[in-house]
Amino acid sequence: MQPQNQYDTGAIQKLDSAHYMHPFTDHHALAERGARVMVRGDGIYLWDSDGNQILDGMSGLWCVNIGYGRTSMSDAVYKQMQQLPFYNSFFNTTNVPAVQLAALLVEVSSSQFNHVFFTGSGSEANDTIVRMVRRYWELKGEGERHVIISRQNAYHGSTIAGASLGGMAGMHAQGGPMVPGIVHIGQPSYLEGGRGMSEDEFGLVAAGWLEERIGELGPHNVAAFIGEPVQGAGGVIIPPATYWPEIQRICDKYGILLIADEVICGFGRLGAWFGSELMGIKPDLIAFAKGVTSGYIPLGGVLVGDRVFDVLAGQGGDFNHGFTYSGHPVACAAALENIRIILDEQLVQQVAHDTGPYLKQQFGALIDHPLVGYADSCGFVAGLNLVRRKAAIVHDCEHFGSEQPAGMVCRGYMFDNGVIMRAVGERMIIAPPLVMTRAQIDEMVGRIRAALDDTLAELHKRGWM
Ligand SMILES: *Cc1c(COP(=O)(O)O)cnc(C)c1O
Repeated sequence: MQPQNQYDTGAIQKLDSAHYMHPFTDHHALAERGARVMVRGDGIYLWDSDGNQILDGMSGLWCVNIGYGRTSMSDAVYKQMQQLPFYNSFFNTTNVPAVQLAALLVEVSSSQFNHVFFTGSGSEANDTIVRMVRRYWELKGEGERHVIISRQNAYHGSTIAGASLGGMAGMHAQGGPMVPGIVHIGQPSYLEGGRGMSEDEFGLVAAGWLEERIGELGPHNVAAFIGEPVQGAGGVIIPPATYWPEIQRICDKYGILLIADEVICGFGRLGAWFGSELMGIKPDLIAFAKGVTSGYIPLGGVLVGDRVFDVLAGQGGDFNHGFTYSGHPVACAAALENIRIILDEQLVQQVAHDTGPYLKQQFGALIDHPLVGYADSCGFVAGLNLVRRKAAIVHDCEHFGSEQPAGMVCRGYMFDNGVIMRAVGERMIIAPPLVMTRAQIDEMVGRIRAALDDTLAELHKRGWM
């Protein structure tokens, strides 16, 4: 047994705020509070430097799909590092794990995918896609087709192209100008836009915004449409069932490329190998990262459909694009072992037919809590909305004021109750490890309910309810 208090938390926090610049962080506020120091993971649990055990409802950051502490992962990485820690794939060379991984990804993805381009992250995958899409149309002799249509509140990464593709207002407000030739339509959020409509009606309306925008831009200027099958960072926004098939119809009608950003949805997260299969669409390009290695080592990439590959690999010569770490042998070895685990343990089927439906039932039951106005899930992503007053029609629920960050309060009580749940405004979201069992789902939902009770008591005390 490890001693529980072998870490000097205060000293680590002091060094942290002195030198370590965190992603998406207000450092002034962080320095006052001090960061929580994570030191160990096993299965679905994390331990911090004070010895607290926390159930990780977010799989790290949507990625630790096989859970923490899998020794076959460290073995695979160790072996590859000893044999060949690095070599590039630029100058007519290749390496065995990259080749094997490309072949395996082709095997587990839909039939239009026969090629894979590797990157180091999801952001780089989307940067690669922007360059591929525009190069594709140049080679087709339709270079004026350069506009990529995305959606408000989408998340496609933090590089300049990723941030430009994304629809996060807070990101567009900083560090501009953004990459030109990228525009955004509304997101398919039933809660936001579906008042007075059924979900299916709203799905068609929201997809129709794409056709409207294509009309405004002129179809001959439009290169592609990009979307996450289910929006993740935007707050687990699950589109109505009618949405994606209609998007596919519109893309086909105007001949524009369809891109699925599956950085979260890929590798079983929604109970299918890729979310696009579940949504009934056939994208030309898929961005992946996160779950491909379960986060054990950074890796991302692009599944390149035949339509695009055949043009890029045709008479155009070199496609002048690539990263030092494209096809990194150690990262690819980690991905091979991760996918072997997903296959062996039948995690995709388990989420589709057993634990996913069970999560829907147990998490969905939280709707009886006085704070919860709406709760939904898809595979192993789920979210609930905190409301000040519930109503029979979800659009009539009363919201907290802009000076009442109920989500932030709730997130704190989740931590205190030993469960990690993320807050996006008033929406509380989870994306648990795919290995989570039914008993562990009960444990997680129990901790969430306890935290909701604590939040309710606190909000009453503050006079927000
Ligand atoms: C996380 C994420 C990205 C960015 O991936 P990074 O590895 O952080 O660069 C892109 N798209 C989606 C949908 C994501 O969730």
